[in-house]
Amino acid sequence: MTRIYKNILILTGAGISAESGLATFRSSNGLWNNHKVEDVATIEGFERNPALVHDFYNELKVEVQKAEPNPAHFALTKLQQEYPAEINIVTQNVDTLHEKAGNKNVYHIHGQINQAVCLNCGHVLETWGDVDTETICPQCEVSGMMKPNIVFFGENLLCMDKVEVFLRKCDLFISIGTSGVVYPAAGFVQTAKYYGADTIEFTLDMTANNYLFDKHVLGKAGETLPKYVDELITSLKKNPAE
Ligand code: NAD
Repeated sequence: MTRIYKNILILTGAGISAESGLATFRSSNGLWNNHKVEDVATIEGFERNPALVHDFYNELKVEVQKAEPNPAHFALTKLQQEYPAEINIVTQNVDTLHEKAGNKNVYHIHGQINQAVCLNCGHVLETWGDVDTETICPQCEVSGMMKPNIVFFGENLLCMDKVEVFLRKCDLFISIGTSGVVYPAAGFVQTAKYYGADTIEFTLDMTANNYLFDKHVLGKAGETLPKYVDELITSLKKNPAE
């Protein structure tokens, strides 16, 4: 009999958005949309050539804005609407497909494509328009200090105070479409397990940290996740006393 959960933490990665047409990170030999990761996702790359980095994210922004959520994102909406637990979604994705699908309590630990942060005053600008090396910060009015609000390799993750709390109190940890290679997110499962959570992953290929999961569901998340969500919701009816 499936346990009734009170607190569910969901970690998502690039794989959940693959069926929406957005390329995953590792799908093409370490290149992200044909660019070297060192060039477009590191502080050194940004300092070396900020114009190139802005161009890269401006292009990706157009692609992301056109993308639509897939059945995996909608399965999470259903879970949040029909399963009476606290359900938080921590995403490594910089796209906004969780929000577009109606998911609630979404925390973007690697930033968001539709935001830029001012390196002078910290203001976060929300925009689907282009940002470049001459963009003026609407708060401090300084020009040329905006950086895409994307967490580059070596930078601190966002929302980690909240994530630490979620990891300690969740009784079910679900990982979807993440390779278990990019730390610290790849280590979240270990903390959740240490504090007693059941752990399950949905992925296409075996992940680097697979030994930390109680259960692995291999296949496309758009097919496997809706089934699992239905099972969780059905299990409520089979455990009426809880
Ligand atoms: P990754 O590319 O390293 O790994 C993707 C994982 O998803 C793999 O384990 C793969 O087996 C799995 N996968 C692929 N298609 C799937 C599908 N249809 N269903 C289920 N699983 C599937 O991604 P990562 O671990 O998230 O790390 C890459 C980093 O790059 C992230 O931190 C993220 O910030 C960034 N990124 C974001 C996006 C986005 O926002 N959509 C896209 C690419 C990269």
